[in-house]
Amino acid sequence: MKKITSLIALAVLLLASCSKPARIITAHSYEELKGTVIGTYNGATVERILSSHAEECGYRVEYHTDPASIIQGLKNGSIDLMTVRFPEFKAYMHSIPGLYLVWDSLVVDDQFVLMSMKNNELKDQFNEWLELPETRQMIQDSKDYWLRPYGTPDPAPKDYDVPTGGEPIHIASSFTVVGTTYISNGKPAGVDIDVLYGFAKYAGRPVELLNMPTLSILAAVQTGQIDMGVSGFAMRNDGSMNENMLVSDPYNRASHALVGYSEELAVQQMKEAGLYKETNFFSNVSDAFRRTFIEEDRWQMIAGGLWLTVRISFCSLVFGTLLGALICAMRLSRRRFISGTAKVYVEIMRVVPILVFLMIMYYAVFSSMGVSGEVVSVIALSMSMAAFVGDVFCMAIQGIDRGQREAGYALGFSKKQTFFNIILPQAARSAQAVYNGQVIAMIKATSIIGYIAVLDLTKAMDIIRSRTFDAFFPFIAAAVIYYLITVVFVRLIGWLLDMTLPKKGSAVAPELVIKPAKKTNAPVSWEHSVQDRETVLSVNGLRKVFEDGVTVLKNITTDIHKGDVVSIIGPSGTGKSTFLRCLNKLETSTEGTVTMHGISEDEMRRHMGMVFQSFNLFEHLTVLENVCIGPMKLLHKSREEAEMRGMELLSAVGMANKATYMPGQLSGGQKQRVAIARCLSMDPEVILFDEPTSALDPTMINEVLTVIRELAARGMTMLIVTHEMKFARNVSNRVFFMNQGVIYEEGTPQQIFTEPQREETKRFIQGISKFDYSIVRDYDYIDMSNCLEQFLMHHMIPQPVVDRTMAAVEELLQLFRNGSGCVARIEAGACLTVRYIEQSQSTELQLSYSDKLPQILSDTGREDDLSITLLRSYTSVLEESAGRLYAKIQSD
Ligand code: ADP
Ligand code: MG
Repeated sequence: MKKITSLIALAVLLLASCSKPARIITAHSYEELKGTVIGTYNGATVERILSSHAEECGYRVEYHTDPASIIQGLKNGSIDLMTVRFPEFKAYMHSIPGLYLVWDSLVVDDQFVLMSMKNNELKDQFNEWLELPETRQMIQDSKDYWLRPYGTPDPAPKDYDVPTGGEPIHIASSFTVVGTTYISNGKPAGVDIDVLYGFAKYAGRPVELLNMPTLSILAAVQTGQIDMGVSGFAMRNDGSMNENMLVSDPYNRASHALVGYSEELAVQQMKEAGLYKETNFFSNVSDAFRRTFIEEDRWQMIAGGLWLTVRISFCSLVFGTLLGALICAMRLSRRRFISGTAKVYVEIMRVVPILVFLMIMYYAVFSSMGVSGEVVSVIALSMSMAAFVGDVFCMAIQGIDRGQREAGYALGFSKKQTFFNIILPQAARSAQAVYNGQVIAMIKATSIIGYIAVLDLTKAMDIIRSRTFDAFFPFIAAAVIYYLITVVFVRLIGWLLDMTLPKKGSAVAPELVIKPAKKTNAPVSWEHSVQDRETVLSVNGLRKVFEDGVTVLKNITTDIHKGDVVSIIGPSGTGKSTFLRCLNKLETSTEGTVTMHGISEDEMRRHMGMVFQSFNLFEHLTVLENVCIGPMKLLHKSREEAEMRGMELLSAVGMANKATYMPGQLSGGQKQRVAIARCLSMDPEVILFDEPTSALDPTMINEVLTVIRELAARGMTMLIVTHEMKFARNVSNRVFFMNQGVIYEEGTPQQIFTEPQREETKRFIQGISKFDYSIVRDYDYIDMSNCLEQFLMHHMIPQPVVDRTMAAVEELLQLFRNGSGCVARIEAGACLTVRYIEQSQSTELQLSYSDKLPQILSDTGREDDLSITLLRSYTSVLEESAGRLYAKIQSD
């Protein structure tokens, strides 16, 4: 489909390039030009004269940069007339049948050679040479040779004999004006070329000929990068060019003509010359192809340009990417100066157009160093690409969740290892698409390097275009070639990434897949008392003050023994997470020590696993790879060994059958089980859990808790920050109640949950089994029921009880809003309290309201009968006294 549309687009463009008949125009004064469109060149003398009369005489002047596009305009009728120097008209007539002269003497001007200011001697020498009668004769002969009428044979390119020794003269020309300066059969040709070689021979110096667009020649002469510019430069001799460069005496004087084009005339001329043939779309395309590629072996020039474009693109890609990585590293630096420098650099590159930047580099920065255009192109393109690519890298790296980094550290990777194993592969993948876009932009940008004397693909096509006068075909051919280059480059990048980065979902040998192990729900029994067991982890006087001056941990001291399962509970924001993070040094503590029995400070993290609330599985790795990366990279196990052990662990957490899945394909509960397996893969002595089930749907909490319970049963030492009170009670042997940065109360689950000693602990323990909501005038029913549902879920209340509780609350509030006392009741408001009674696994409701108001159950109309019946069906007890309605929800 894509191919078909591109073919259609190509056909439309080619059709547009086919000719339309134009009327024959006669005019010998500006007034007679009324209503016409005249194509001319920007900055030429003739342009100034033409445009000065345009408004008053009612014609329009259109500016172009090269003859090929003007002639295309003439052919398709968008331009009626074009300006051309009279001698060149002959050369055009030679190549293009159908041109006819309208007005032959618009203005007379002279052609000069331009020279840089330092070349005074050269200028004198040139003028001296011009004076010679044989020079005058040579130029006349040259004009006769190159500028021939249609139907005569093509002038063959000449071989010039140039002196070999001595300092070469650097001469630039544009090679885009047939007859004057162009490429014929792959060789420089035209009157200007005769002139410059003639002079070089006279001066006895060799020639270094450079190929530049007209505007670039002006710049190169001014900066002294080249000695001479010979490219049909013409003007009336008013000396305006004299300021920044030297101008020779005129070597060629000619008048400008206005020329039109007629299809009928073209046919007639071709018939007369015996060159006429019928054309259609396909013959036009094949002719254009022949002219562009085959004739005069032009494919060689195209191949040369292509090779150069590929070379420059490739080098710029490599250097641009490396430099981009550096810019990215600088931007991520903590040092203001370094990141600031990178920022300024990127800003500058963002606003400066690449062409301007290229010109500055070539004509200002490297002008005196003799660096070739090719090298300057690579430097400019890589520098420009680096700015954008650096940005892309930066965003990709910053876009990687902080959890990924922390999970890497927690597994025991150093900063560098985390970057290369975890961050970089993910960033590379996420940056790939945008990066490819930058590569394509860079390859396309190579099309401007023709401005600095480099014969790239576009420039080659330009030169051919100026010779064949096909405005479209060479461009379309170039577009196709550029497309192919970008496709190859993008494929190459994709292939390189695939080779270096872990593949998505790499296969696991089938024999490794083991059936998941059976889950156990058995409660854990504790045979030993705390004192009997050896200490694994000692925390001494731990304090943490954040940079903003907030003290989050105040002097925590405790010992964790082998096999301890410590539940850490407490209100949020009291430092539970910070405590765990200080233990494995994800946060550096301000004061105090954490020591692990028999393990050095550096090794500690490796022996302490951590399970995060948000799982933090490595997103670019499969489940099995997540479990293997630690052992392989840090414990230097072989892949086979790591995979064997990995599969064992996965089956222990019931995830063996998902070994080849990517984390994105798993549910939250499954992810957390894999995260636990990953943790176990490093054989940790202690595992820290930071709210492992808080990010999970209620239905998945149990599967994770079961795994943790099993670990406890096997004697794993664990610290678990949790809100699952029932679980904490069943699974742990010690409970820390943390409040405001300290372990406020510590004890066995029995002590903390049933006989809390201290005030805050009591409040917390009771509070968490009670739900309060004020029912006021504009209260949000949806919010209330969401909060209530969450509360009920949190306590793992059986689903039927949850449903009955929710339904009962709905009916109760319905009744509250009805009846004769409703307005006053709503006005006064009420408080809804829902309590969970753990022993009986049941809930009770209480609605307290002003005792001065009519009671709810007796204040009912007929329509409320159903509500009351329903309410009774949900409850085992339903009573109301003044200002208080109490209901006990039926348990199972
Ligand atoms: P908990 O896990 O008990 O909910 P946290 O340990 O996450 O509590 O946080 C305790 C306090 O420390 C909070 O008030 C929090 O705002 C603050 N805190 C956490 N991390 C940082 C940090 N990087 N910079 C500043 N303050 C922080
Ligand atoms: Mg926390």
